[in-house]
Amino acid sequence: MKRSLILLCLLGIQLILPAQGFNTYFYPKTLRINYIHSGTKDKDSIEVKNYQVDNLWAGSLTNLIDPNDYGCHKIMVYDVNSKQLIYSRTYSCLFGEYRTTEKGATLSKAFQETVRCPYPKNSVRIEFYTRNQYSDFEKRQEIVVHPKTIQAVPNTYQCEVMDLHIGGNYNQAYDLVIVPEGYALADSTQLREDLMRCKNAIIECTPFKESAVKINIRAVLSYSEESGISDEIRGKKVKTVVGSAFYSLDLERYLMLDHVWQLHNVCSNAPYDNIIILCNTKKYGGGGIYNWYATVSNNKHFNYVCVHELGHTIGGLADEYYTSEVTVQDFYPKGSEPKEPNITSLVNFESKWKNMLAPNTPIPTLITDQNNDLLGVYEGAGYCAKGLYRPYISCTMKDIVYNKFCPVCQKALIEMFDFYAK
Ligand SMILES: [Zn+2]
Repeated sequence: MKRSLILLCLLGIQLILPAQGFNTYFYPKTLRINYIHSGTKDKDSIEVKNYQVDNLWAGSLTNLIDPNDYGCHKIMVYDVNSKQLIYSRTYSCLFGEYRTTEKGATLSKAFQETVRCPYPKNSVRIEFYTRNQYSDFEKRQEIVVHPKTIQAVPNTYQCEVMDLHIGGNYNQAYDLVIVPEGYALADSTQLREDLMRCKNAIIECTPFKESAVKINIRAVLSYSEESGISDEIRGKKVKTVVGSAFYSLDLERYLMLDHVWQLHNVCSNAPYDNIIILCNTKKYGGGGIYNWYATVSNNKHFNYVCVHELGHTIGGLADEYYTSEVTVQDFYPKGSEPKEPNITSLVNFESKWKNMLAPNTPIPTLITDQNNDLLGVYEGAGYCAKGLYRPYISCTMKDIVYNKFCPVCQKALIEMFDFYAK
């Protein structure tokens, strides 16, 4: 399998369906698959619970097969009759992070998850994959969906949508939806101000700025019952739309949520390829998971947090820092090449930014003032001071600094915008 993929790449054959492929296999609607993902570091299982249908498909009509090898998980959708692969997507999830923690090594925990694909015309087989300890994808579940007889759960969550930046048609753009969280109706003036700040932070940052015609940003106006964000360790429980809370995975500033199915009910009022949750709290925090969602809080580092978390969520980028409170264990197993494009263990540097280096750049590259603007291979990245390397001395994925994505991070983001804009 691997060999044939390599051969296809060598021959320059793109893994995309022909333009007519979409209409052959799909209606321009979205199938949402809601399931429970549970387990520990060594064992995980997927149990599909229900389906939902949204009345448009926001993704590309031509780029249906994911060319990236990012993320911890993947779905592959096959047409049952022709056996052809007709859709795939790589992603990561909160469960994938949980299983790298101390608790996740032995204590099983269940998470709500949702994956989406265009709505199939005929029966499809959907396969769910998880990476094993060697970083290879292993099948965890497969289901057959008969679209003509599906019993879909209706979405009863209706809300207004606000256009903040429209670069193009939703089938030819990367569609971001902002979900307000912890804003009560009484906070609506503040919400509109914060939405504009969020939109500006994104669209004024390179490379989002240069790709503005390939990006749409909309907000769903979802109001919470109460103002603020839950911080249960401090005894604060707030009734919000999707239940975001600090202390996710026992990390104080990790701000994530449990109600993923509800999150998609809220989002689906707008076309969306990815989600940013705008949390009404001044406390520093946030989070971002590849092809999953990002959260940001309204603190003094707001602009930076917005684009840093989108770096994870859109570009599949790794954290380039290595001194932090992150307590993940063996997040990047020794002897393997991380899947993220902006860090390397040098096990397979050819697959990373080696071809972008100037001739004679030393590997590793010394961290000196003269090298501040030099693309290199600097030790310290991905929560490890030793053995993992980053492309630039300072980057928005390393330091709390806004609008400073390094050339490697920029390239990964631009490639993603281009993929969705085709
Ligand atoms: Zn970078």
